[in-house]
Formats: sequence, C-alpha cells, structure tokens
Amino acid sequence: MTSRTAARFSGIRRSATFAVLERVHALRAEGVDVLDLGGGEPDFDTPGHVVEAATRALDEGRTHYAPSRGLPELLAAVAEKLERDNGIVVRPDRDIIVTPSAKHALFISLLALLDPGDEVLVPTPSWVSYASMARLVGAVPVSVPLDAADGFRLTREVLERYVTPRTKVLLLNTPNNPTGRVLSPEEARTVSAFVRDHDLLVVADEIYEKIVYGGARHLSLASLPGCADRTLTVNGFSKAHAMTGWRLGYLCGPTDLVGEVLKAQQHSVGCAGTFVQYGGLAALTGPQDEVAAMTREYAARRELVVSGLNRLPGVRCALPEGSFYVFPDIRGTGFATSAEFAAWLLDEARVAVTPGSAFGPGGEGHVRLSFATSRAVIDEAVHRTGDALARRSPGFAGAVPGPPEPAARLTPQCFGEI
Ligand code: PMP
Ligand code: GLU
Repeated sequence: MTSRTAARFSGIRRSATFAVLERVHALRAEGVDVLDLGGGEPDFDTPGHVVEAATRALDEGRTHYAPSRGLPELLAAVAEKLERDNGIVVRPDRDIIVTPSAKHALFISLLALLDPGDEVLVPTPSWVSYASMARLVGAVPVSVPLDAADGFRLTREVLERYVTPRTKVLLLNTPNNPTGRVLSPEEARTVSAFVRDHDLLVVADEIYEKIVYGGARHLSLASLPGCADRTLTVNGFSKAHAMTGWRLGYLCGPTDLVGEVLKAQQHSVGCAGTFVQYGGLAALTGPQDEVAAMTREYAARRELVVSGLNRLPGVRCALPEGSFYVFPDIRGTGFATSAEFAAWLLDEARVAVTPGSAFGPGGEGHVRLSFATSRAVIDEAVHRTGDALARRSPGFAGAVPGPPEPAARLTPQCFGEI
C-alpha cells in the first residue's frame, strides 16, 4: 500500500474558513476576548416563524425520511420563488433538488458533471471550497484571476485566456464571496456568450442573492438567453434567512442534469432533514420582512466597516455591492503576506479575519472581513486594528491609538492549515 488515502486528497487542505472559526472557538475557550470577523454567517437568529414551523413538524412526528428530491410542497415553493425572483422557470417534480446545504448541492453538482481531468474555470478570488471540491471529484480547478485594480471585473479576454478543450464547467458566484462583487448585466451577457460559444456548463452559486446594496441587482445566469439548458443554479437558506446551522439548500437546472445529480444525493445523504424542510417552507412562503431588515442592517454595517478601514494607514477598501464581506487591500501595511497580516492581527489585536490567499490567485494582498457581526464589534475591531498598526509604526496618522492591549502572545500557527 503506497498511501492509505486517495491521491486526489494530497493537494487538498482543510477549509480556511473553518480553520479561523476553530481558532476563534479555541481562543474563546481559553478566555481570550477575540473579535470574530472571520466566519461568514449571519449573527441574527433564524426568524421565529421558521423555527416554529420546524418545531411544529417535530411535534407532529415528521422525523422520517423525506422524498430524496425534497418535500413536494417545498419543491413547489422553490419553483415559485425561482420564477418570481430569478426568472428561472422549472418543473418542481423534475428540475429541482432540495439538498442538505448549498455546499452539498455544489459538491454533488460537480460530482455529477465532471470526469477526472475535466477542467473547471473558477474566477478568483473565490470562496475557499470551490477548488477543493473540484479536486475532490477528480477534476482540475483552473483559476481565472481577476484584477483587483479593475474591481475584479469578469471580462471575455480573461475567460478566453484560461479556457481549453478540457474545460467543461464554469463555476460562477454572484454576489461574490469574498469580493462583494455583483455580476453586472454587461458581465452576465459576456459570460452567457462565452459559455454558449465554448459549449460549457455553468454552476451558478447565488447564495447571497438577497444581500445586495444600493443600485446593485442580482441577475441569475440561468435567466439569460441560451443559458437555462446549460446551468445548474445553486442557492440556500443559510444567508438570506440566517439558517446556517439548519443545513438546507437547493439546486435547479435542466432535467437531464438534475436527474444525474439526484443519483449523487440518493447515494450520499438520501435527503435533506425532513423537519428542517418544513422550516425552509416557512422561510420561503412566510413573511419576508426579517430578510429585508437583516439586509438593511448589513447595509449600515457596510458603511461603517468601509469608512473605518479606509481611515487606517496602508488599508484600502472598496464598497461591496453584495454579500456581507469586505475585501480590503492591505499591501500598504508592509506585511509580506495576507496570512502574516491575519496572524499578526489575531496576535496583536485579537481580531480574527481570513487571509486573502485562502481565496486563490488574486486574493493575496487582501484580507476578508465579515460584517455579519454587530456594529459594536465592527467599531471595536477597526479601533483595535488601528491601535495595533500604530504600535507597529509610530508615525501612524490614522485612528486615535487607545491604551495598549494586555494581550497574551498568540501564535500564528492557527493559519498553518491554510
Ligand atoms: N457558497 C458560498 C459562496 C458560501 O459563502 C457559502 C457559505 N458557507 C456556501 C456556498 C454554502 O452555504 P451553506 O452550505 O451553508 O448552504
Ligand atoms: N461561507 C462561509 C465563509 O465563507 C462559511 C464557512 C464555509 O462554509 O466556508 O466563511
């Protein structure tokens, strides 16, 4: 036996986002007061009517397997939502699968679409799991590095540079984690022409669709001409409805593709949790005012974090159009790498952020901060960062330095897995 584990695991690292989360938990368990701007999950409670619906389902004994595709009433609600919000017309009994998380929807989609050696185009910076998921199914993730100076815009030129005869799928995320970019109508047209011309399939991850700001409007690629028949759209309840711990998502697309993905669902988890799906049904069909209220609050926090960061020397932060992340450029602070900066920040200021290098090529020189946390935490994190930068370079002229933190020395090892 040459290796006890599969060769395709050798290049895969543990999830950078979970590494930060675990580090925060460990430090808190030691009594260290860490401000967590690392993990990407809403700090709000799941809306009450959703919890009630799931509790009622439990009380009524809905604790057995659901149909593998999902509860028929939830499939119908998802189909209605897709048509109303996304301009995607699908049949609930054939073209949708309710999955235990959007993450699982992405995974089984890639598993069903890709043969070993097939290439997947991933515009980067991109969410930490895409490249690893592609490798886990034996495919080859190909980074399409977008230019920070150009606002991480997706252009035909850059896409053409990385497409090969082995390319089968384009993995697209809008609104984007970590950059906060929302695909513009012009970019969407570019993408749709590109995938048609090269006869590619698309996996569109739209999990942040409800969290958009100002004039930005979410566009579903599958609603564009010629794209419905080649696109699997993935979405979920984690972000819009503050349901990260419920593990509930869904995917939709052309019948033949969805039929194959269903096999992967049936032979892996079987179905999403039954009572959880009743919660999902309430989330889609019940009042949406809490979804809107959460987004309004994120909008206020967005202003706070961006203006705060831009006051720090060496830090430049663009205003995100969607999601609840900012992705500031920290090259002016003098750190060699984003991992060093993040480790130093945790050590010196006890502020947890995710290094940009975790998001693939194009991410270095940046860090990701999640503003799905209270305004007080954001304010304090910006101040602590300013103070730590001031202690590091005395000529600092930004935020007023506060008293030095009596911080225990924290090692940078926490990012060893990234
Ligand atoms: N896609 C992106 C871009 C994400 O940030 C997340 C967050 N974990 C997911 C998919 C998966 O969401 P979930 O598995 O919680 O439904
Ligand atoms: N999507 C979130 C993030 O990027 C949650 C953690 C994860 O699933 O990676 O931080």
